[in-house]
Amino acid sequence: MFDSCLKCEICYENCYLEQMGISSFVRLPLHDDATGIWNCSNCWTCHDICPVGIPLMDLKWQIQQTLEPPSKYKASLQNILRYGYCLPIEPDDMNPFRMDDGLEPITLADTTIIAALLRIK
Ligand code: SF4
Ligand code: SF4
Repeated sequence: MFDSCLKCEICYENCYLEQMGISSFVRLPLHDDATGIWNCSNCWTCHDICPVGIPLMDLKWQIQQTLEPPSKYKASLQNILRYGYCLPIEPDDMNPFRMDDGLEPITLADTTIIAALLRIK
């Protein structure tokens, strides 16, 4: 899959997560280490900067299809499906505070639309 990788580390040096000390997807072509794959923010820098044109993001998504996501990732997905946000948003809890401040109440997006956007049946 990464046969043409030069091990030049350009992807690593330009991954902002790695520069902050957070393991990311780029460890996979370099060190055969997939532990950071779920931290990746999909900024596409590694994909765009690879000097030999390895389609890193395409490969990342292919690989993720074969892996079990970590529990925190699944929890975020469940929140997105229910609320439209990564974190729980309860309009009944939030709206009294918003209305006290003169703001419009929030409503949640239709979950069928969210599922359709995520291509989840
Ligand atoms: S930039 Fe491309 S060739 Fe260089 S280490 Fe990363 S994946 Fe390999
Ligand atoms: S797409 Fe992911 S691995 Fe690639 S540079 Fe961005 S955060 Fe790093």
